[in-house]
Amino acid sequence: MIRWIRKALMMVVLLFCASCGTKVAYEHDYQYRVTKEVPRNVVKAMPHVMLDAGHGGFDLGAKCQSCEEKDLCLQTTLMVRDELRRMGYRVSLTRNSDQFIPLKQRAAIANESKCQLFVSIHYNSAKNVRAEGIEIYYYPEKYKPWRKDKSKNVSQLVLKHLIEATSAKSRGVKEGNFCVIRETNMPSILIECGFITHNAERNRIQNHEYMQTLSNSIALGIDNYFNH
Ligand SMILES: [Zn+2]
Repeated sequence: MIRWIRKALMMVVLLFCASCGTKVAYEHDYQYRVTKEVPRNVVKAMPHVMLDAGHGGFDLGAKCQSCEEKDLCLQTTLMVRDELRRMGYRVSLTRNSDQFIPLKQRAAIANESKCQLFVSIHYNSAKNVRAEGIEIYYYPEKYKPWRKDKSKNVSQLVLKHLIEATSAKSRGVKEGNFCVIRETNMPSILIECGFITHNAERNRIQNHEYMQTLSNSIALGIDNYFNH
């Protein structure tokens, strides 16, 4: 008998909601959620991306001949910023000039901004002058598997775009324990865009068009991540 009364009450609720133009989504018996229809013309807010140009100020990063990593990181980061903004993304930077910012502060800037993705941009160096290629790191977060999975996913997509566009050697997507990708709360990656200790690769990197290709590929990989 009680069951019938409950069913009758539910029918009244359903009819009422239908007449109001709202949608009823059931979870299970006797519990329901009324969600208002989202108007079709509502524009979804574009994601917020934090770009982090590696090193800066007295921290030169890698150095080879006249080539300083901190400058290359900043130039690339500014190019990626412009490309992402052109695509409509909201973009913030941990630095936009030649200044030193401690690693933990970079992570804190990202965490406070509530951005959806953190991308740190670096160039590589090695004692072995034949070492070359591009690699991307993500942090294997134990307690937030969703962050690990998303970080790995964006790493793979960005690397795919970078290798397709540049034909550089792929050194793969790797797990890394770097402060900026470890201390951030959102999906985070660190890109090593190439070796400045490899003669041919350094010459390519110092070419404006090549750096633009690198930057566009990073932006395309990020866009691919948010839209697939
Ligand atoms: Zn670096």
